[in-house]
Amino acid sequence: MNCLFCRILQGEIPAKPVFSDELCFAFADIQPQAPTHILLIPRRHIDSLVQATAEDADLLGHLLATAAQIARQLQLDHGGYRVVLNTGDDGGQTVHHLHLHLLGGRSLAWPPG
Ligand code: AMP
Ligand code: ZN
Repeated sequence: MNCLFCRILQGEIPAKPVFSDELCFAFADIQPQAPTHILLIPRRHIDSLVQATAEDADLLGHLLATAAQIARQLQLDHGGYRVVLNTGDDGGQTVHHLHLHLLGGRSLAWPPG
């Protein structure tokens, strides 16, 4: 298996866990772009949002709801935060296992570069 995030899920590559359940896993980004920068991934490999289908709707909804739950636990909900889903080359996706970025703890600029 040569997917980096699948290898993290298998415990082959270490990560700092933040949240885990039967459908997804969250861990600290190795190169944080904000005081809080967490990656949230489904346990089932999906390359990107391009490959997601209507059958993945529940899973995608669960990822979003989980991101909100983690943000609440980290008390980011008062100041706000950003959830990002980079998709494909033009979307800036570098790891081809679908993931949400949860960024917070500072004021974030818009638009992105
Ligand atoms: P993206 O560019 O949207 O595909 O995001 C990939 C993210 O994975 C980047 O923010 C990287 O810093 C992060 N990343 C890469 N390798 C690791 C790792 N071993 N542990 C945690 N985060 C990683
Ligand atoms: Zn994977």
